[in-house]
Amino acid sequence: MTSAIPTTTFPSAAQVPVLGQGTWHMGERADRAKEEAASLRHGLDLGMTLIDTAEMYANGGAETVVGEAIKGRRRDAFIVSKVLPSNASTTGTIRACEASLKRLGMETIDLYLLHWRGSYGLDETLEGFERLQQAGKIKTWGVSNFDVDDMEEISALPGGKQVATNQVLYNLTRRGIEYDLQPWCADRGIPIMAYSPLDEGRLLNHPELVHIAKAHQATPAQVALAFVISRPGVIAIPKTSSRQRVEENRASADIHLTLENLSALDAAFAPPKRKKPLEMI
Ligand code: NDP
Repeated sequence: MTSAIPTTTFPSAAQVPVLGQGTWHMGERADRAKEEAASLRHGLDLGMTLIDTAEMYANGGAETVVGEAIKGRRRDAFIVSKVLPSNASTTGTIRACEASLKRLGMETIDLYLLHWRGSYGLDETLEGFERLQQAGKIKTWGVSNFDVDDMEEISALPGGKQVATNQVLYNLTRRGIEYDLQPWCADRGIPIMAYSPLDEGRLLNHPELVHIAKAHQATPAQVALAFVISRPGVIAIPKTSSRQRVEENRASADIHLTLENLSALDAAFAPPKRKKPLEMI
């Protein structure tokens, strides 16, 4: 029997499952859009209610797919989208968000992120986020691809402590954040959203993953996801357009890695011993 997906809580008190759904590369081909929306809907049915998207993905095409997926069931979903750094001036952020809302077919984005740091000052973007919040167009805001020094900088700004999340690259082969960024966020009650939790599929043939997967009658992808969501305050957002893989990914939340499994994973994918600059894709 499957149990409910564990949850984590954003500083706003919104509770979300630690397993969500990514959408990068969705919306790139019109002939696949139906299947992509159907896989997201299937994920919603299975409790993966957090959906991550961005204006960047397929130039807005992924947001259109998400809009299609949640038609008639907005309340079932927690939607995260992102503004491109090149749009992240105060008025640019507002305009970008309004365009995203139109594509998504909704009135409010649950969590709106700066995709990565660009040339606009963080204070300018933050002002855009605050105005959007006041207008009811976003509920909360956060950042993505921010290292510890960037987090320090944004939280020192007026209103900056409202930062709800930092979405970063995190999987078994990219464990650098365990050294400093993860503890920094945990100390402040800020959940981390782990993107590319399967390293875009690259890590799935690793012999140790295959070995542990066999022992759990699971797949390497499930073990890779179970590892990511075993970390407190970490949300994994794997992307798949396949209904079968949606089910496979959902079932990763039912796998309990033993201490022995975790040490074997540490031996195969060494945790960081010193500060590493944040990696990004
Ligand atoms: P993932 O690690 O989620 O891997 C996705 C790839 O793995 C796809 O090719 C998918 O193929 C395949 N896959 C999914 N499930 C399985 C499975 N069970 N077994 C085997 N293969 C599988 O990489 P992403 O880069 O897509 O990251 C996830 C999400 O994170 C993105 O979609 C996006 O929303 C977000 N992201 C954010 C970034 C940022 O800068 N903030 C950067 C990168 C990603 P298929 O669809 O055919 O199943």
